[in-house]
Amino acid sequence: MRKQIAAANWKMNLSISEASILLDQLAATSPNLSEHQEAVFAVPAIYIPLATQKLDGLNHFYVAAQNCHPKANGAYTGEISAPMLASIGVKHIVLGHSERREYFNESDSFLAEKTNAVLSEGSTPIFCCGEPLTIREAGTQNSFVETQLINSLFHLSEEQITKVVIAYEPIWAIGTGKTASSEQAQEIHAYIRSVFATKYSQAIADQISILYGGSVKASNAKQIFSQPDVDGGLVGGASLIATEFVAIINALK
Ligand code: PEP
Repeated sequence: MRKQIAAANWKMNLSISEASILLDQLAATSPNLSEHQEAVFAVPAIYIPLATQKLDGLNHFYVAAQNCHPKANGAYTGEISAPMLASIGVKHIVLGHSERREYFNESDSFLAEKTNAVLSEGSTPIFCCGEPLTIREAGTQNSFVETQLINSLFHLSEEQITKVVIAYEPIWAIGTGKTASSEQAQEIHAYIRSVFATKYSQAIADQISILYGGSVKASNAKQIFSQPDVDGGLVGGASLIATEFVAIINALK
């Protein structure tokens, strides 16, 4: 069975004491996950050691980074590399979130380099893609997302692509309270899987976990995750409330 993943994206939120309380609540109430399920916490980089310590011992719980630089080291002030993250046990890295694409001008080719860097460490890129509202309204979301995938991921080998987790996040649904309907999510997730089936094979495509992101909360997670091509979610706002996020973890298939 494909990995089913509930991934939290804390973004640039919480003081250290707030983070500490949230992690304690999560550790105290979190469910036992099955072999094919994972809970991933992309916390602000400075809280990674705290999160690692607080979530220690919870099976299938992983602390993640929200970003990394493609180079291993060097004169890149303010940046953190994939090998540095791996050296502190962080093996999941979110790449290409729409906020980074928009506010930090991250291009498809730059994201291809970052993906290579993460895979070189044996780590897991959680690669974000998704269209803005204008594209959705024009009905061209499939080709828009396909182009993002082609430009950043199609150079990967069969073995490499199965290590990538995709997070489909329609930009119009991120932090807006608007969620894609479960039918809309299923439709484009199935399309994304078909893109990988055409490039690689159906067997390869069937191994790739595709998460949905965009205003997932406790009240809609079960419905969205029940779709056959939706393998969990990448969650922003609702991941900052322990009861919400635990319910989202519990909604995994
Ligand atoms: C996100 O940040 O990836 C996200 C999906 O945010 P939200 O759940 O708040 O829409």
